[in-house]
Amino acid sequence: MKITGAVLEEIGRPRPFAESKPISITELELSAPGPTEILVRLEAAGICHSDLSVVDGNRVRPVPMLLGHEAAGRVVEVGADVTDLRPGQRVVMSFLPRCEQCANCAADGRLPCTAGSKSNGEGTLLHGSMHLSRAGETVYHHLGVSGFASHAVVDRASAVPVDDDIPADIAAVLGCAVLTGGGAVLNAAKPGPEDSIMIVGLGGVGMAALITAVSQGISRIVAVDTLDVKLEHARRLGAHETYTPQQLAEQGIKAKFVVECAGSARAFEAAFAATDVGGTTITAGLPSPDARAQLSPLTITAEARTIVGSYLGSAVPARDIPKYAQLWRDGKLPVEELISSRIALADINQAMDQLADGKAVRQVIMFDAVFDAGSDIE
Ligand code: NAP
Ligand code: ZN
Repeated sequence: MKITGAVLEEIGRPRPFAESKPISITELELSAPGPTEILVRLEAAGICHSDLSVVDGNRVRPVPMLLGHEAAGRVVEVGADVTDLRPGQRVVMSFLPRCEQCANCAADGRLPCTAGSKSNGEGTLLHGSMHLSRAGETVYHHLGVSGFASHAVVDRASAVPVDDDIPADIAAVLGCAVLTGGGAVLNAAKPGPEDSIMIVGLGGVGMAALITAVSQGISRIVAVDTLDVKLEHARRLGAHETYTPQQLAEQGIKAKFVVECAGSARAFEAAFAATDVGGTTITAGLPSPDARAQLSPLTITAEARTIVGSYLGSAVPARDIPKYAQLWRDGKLPVEELISSRIALADINQAMDQLADGKAVRQVIMFDAVFDAGSDIE
């Protein structure tokens, strides 16, 4: 079938992206789902720094690539072997499919699926299938999702069903920002109510970590970002203390759990320095593979420190996404506060500039306004 999608043509074009236009909105061919796959009509998709990291070359991926990994939509068609989803159901995309057969998948979310990591790196769906092309040329999939499009074919393992009462934009943000930031708190840090927790970097992932900590009633929640406007937002959402990285260092502020959600080596160093004796530094950011941090091994030993890496929120998406959906439903997790704007697919290059300039938390592309006219299922 013919679809419309946002294709990254080339990595590393100069800023502003609004002028250099690394991403074009084009028509593509999407082939039918295989036996373990589903066809989804996208409703909403959030723009994450991990999309920007492909555009600016921080994480090199094959191009042309149809970007977007934080998305939600409705099932249109299921492959022959998919027995537990039906057309019309709303699904949240998960950006690391789980094969459920490797040793890592048996590790309760702590380790990334081996097959899913391989297919994500190669720009294919789980098990290597590819469905996107343009005038005969292959177009790569982004993290098994490619959600910046009218439709997507994804493996069943890349989708988690949610009830209809979860609006599409909220559902989309559950798939990456909330799963990652929330899981860094609940699955990786696991603070008790009496503990202190600090979040370093307040984009979509960090703000999600913050609201998750607030939802758990943690007694001391500290938020850190370079931008005052994000610190103010964090206070409104329930942070007890806020600091710029400079204030944090000058005042020697510490916490038992420190969650790095900025994606830079400098932020990781700041997070490590702000971790208390016996405390744990959790890192969820994804800096360039060449980035290096300087740490004191002596401090790790003498202060009995722990450093934990958390990919995909150390989550089992099918277990955790419904948990966050319920917290939202109960009014305990204000995911809508992470959405700084709702935009059209055509705004994507400007949106990448906004994100790079720190002017956005989550910008969410809404598809219905553009694509609903000939809706295939409703
Ligand atoms: P984002 O919206 O760009 O947010 C990052 C925030 O960190 C920005 O507000 C930024 O401020 C701030 N920051 C930068 N340097 C800092 C420092 N030294 N101290 C404190 N704050 C600092 O990004 P995001 O979408 O939330 O993603 C955050 C990171 O997580 C990225 O590296 C992304 O690739 C990664 N990620 C990881 C996973 C995972 O599975 N672990 C999943 C999704 C995303 P400025 O705007 O002023 O720079
Ligand atoms: Zn993401």
